[in-house]
Amino acid sequence: MKSLFRKLFDTHSYVPSSARLILVSHDISSPSDATYSKGNSTPPELFERQLSFLQEKFQFVSLPELLRSESPEPLAALTFDDGFLTVKTRAASILSARLIPFSIFCNGKAVAEQRLDYGSEYEPLDFSRTRFYLNESELKELHKNGVGIGSHGLTHQPLGSLGAESLKQEIAENKRYLENLLGSAVTNFAFPFGKPRHISEAAIRVCQEAGHSRLFSALPSYVPRNKLELPETLIPRVSLHMQSEADLNVLLNRMAIKEVAGI
Ligand SMILES: [Zn+2]
Repeated sequence: MKSLFRKLFDTHSYVPSSARLILVSHDISSPSDATYSKGNSTPPELFERQLSFLQEKFQFVSLPELLRSESPEPLAALTFDDGFLTVKTRAASILSARLIPFSIFCNGKAVAEQRLDYGSEYEPLDFSRTRFYLNESELKELHKNGVGIGSHGLTHQPLGSLGAESLKQEIAENKRYLENLLGSAVTNFAFPFGKPRHISEAAIRVCQEAGHSRLFSALPSYVPRNKLELPETLIPRVSLHMQSEADLNVLLNRMAIKEVAGI
């Protein structure tokens, strides 16, 4: 039998006041859709339930608003990585009905060539089956409609062990490509894969030299409240994938414990 503490932990979410939560999602597809992939997709019905659960606890704002707001309320911001087409075709209407703004971190190669290689650890997407990524005109249109666009590296390579020239190509070249396409500055960079082993000091330095002011990882923590001004600070984002409401509840409570313990 579960202890009282365990029951409370499983059913009640503790969210620290003034918590800042950045979520990262990928693709919104049902298993019957050609765009569906196990590693990236969240079915639309589940995505709606996740948002309903989170909207009870957080006010959703844009990414820049979350990073500058002094609000004492818990805030959340939604981001998507890799620039999947379904962000426009499936997610955008769900999010606009809920008044949730969002940002997309894009790879130039996906936009321009409609393919990415995720490496041997991940199940490859079948690019002959359908188009998976936003193209240039779709990305421009989303940007014109107020969607924030950030960089996610040119080809989605893990950057942790790349040398100086490759880092420049992945980081500076993608920034330049997106800025030329959109006609505006791109200053946010999200590390592909986003775990500590995919990030290096050299990569952080190249990001800064290229002119990025905010760098994002993929780690399950709230955003620290006082260290954002340093460009070398990696801002954590929490993955939103196949979690049920109960899973998200446990995740929020784990993060709250980390926050209270200061780890
Ligand atoms: Zn990615």
